[in-house]
Amino acid sequence: MEKLSRRSILQSSALAGIATCVSGAALSAQEVRREPDRKFNVLAVGGHYDDPQTCAGGTLSLLADRGHNVVGLSLTGGPPPSPSADPNDHWVKNYMNAMRMAEILKIRLDCLDYDGSDSGQSSPVVYRNGSEISGQRYKEFTELLLDKYKPDLVITHWPIDFNMDHRAASLLTYEAWLRGGKKFALYYMEAELGSQTQNFFPTHYVDISSVEERTHQSWLADTFWYEKIWPLHDSMRRIRGAEHGCKVAEAFNHHPQSPSMPALPA
Ligand SMILES: [Zn+2]
Repeated sequence: MEKLSRRSILQSSALAGIATCVSGAALSAQEVRREPDRKFNVLAVGGHYDDPQTCAGGTLSLLADRGHNVVGLSLTGGPPPSPSADPNDHWVKNYMNAMRMAEILKIRLDCLDYDGSDSGQSSPVVYRNGSEISGQRYKEFTELLLDKYKPDLVITHWPIDFNMDHRAASLLTYEAWLRGGKKFALYYMEAELGSQTQNFFPTHYVDISSVEERTHQSWLADTFWYEKIWPLHDSMRRIRGAEHGCKVAEAFNHHPQSPSMPALPA
C-alpha cells in the first residue's frame, strides 16, 4: 500500500475539498435550474374577497404567469351565490366582481364564510364581522391552510391594521405558520397607503410594471370600491416603485424565520 506523504495528504485533501465544492456548486446550479420548473402552491390570505387582488395582485399575477398554483383566500364572503340568486343583489354583485378581479389576474379565489352570513344572499356582508379569533377558529383555519392548500409561499395582511378582519387574517395565518413548523415562506402585504396598514416596513419589492395594466383592469372590476380605494393603492404602488427604482411596485415584509424559497418574482 502506498504510503501517503504529508504533502500528498494535503493535496488529496485539497482536491477532495475542491471536488466537494465543485459538486456542491453543481448541485446548487441544478437546484437553481430546477427552480423555475417546480410548481409552487402560493396562497394570499385576506380578510375580504378583494384583498388578495388589491394588495398583492401584481405579484400574484406574475407568479401565475410562471405556472405556479396561485389562490386568493378570503375569510369572508363565501360560499358562492346560488345560480338562482338575483344578479342585481349588492352581495351577489360584489362577489362576482371579486371573482372577475381574480380571473383577470389569472388566479383562483376561494371565499370562506367566517362573516357568518350563511349564504350571504339574505343579508349583506357586514363590515368587520370576519374578525373573530378563538381557539376553535385558530384550529380550523390551521387545518384548512395546511391540509387543503399545502402552501409553499403565503402572503397575508401585516398584523397592525385598522381593519379587524385584516388583523384576524394575519393572526390566523401566523398561527398556521407556527403550527406547521414554519415551513412555508411567509410575507406580509400592505393596504391603503397607511390608512389601513400601519407601521409597515418593506423588506422586499416586486416590480409589477409589466402587469400594471392587467392589475388596473382588475381594479376596475371592483366597481363598488374602485373610486374610493384605487387612488390610495395607485399612489402606494408608485411610491413603492420610486423606492425600488421602477414605475410601480408592490412591497412586502418577509418573516426572517421563514424560508427564503420560493422567492417572490425578482
Ligand atoms: Zn379588506
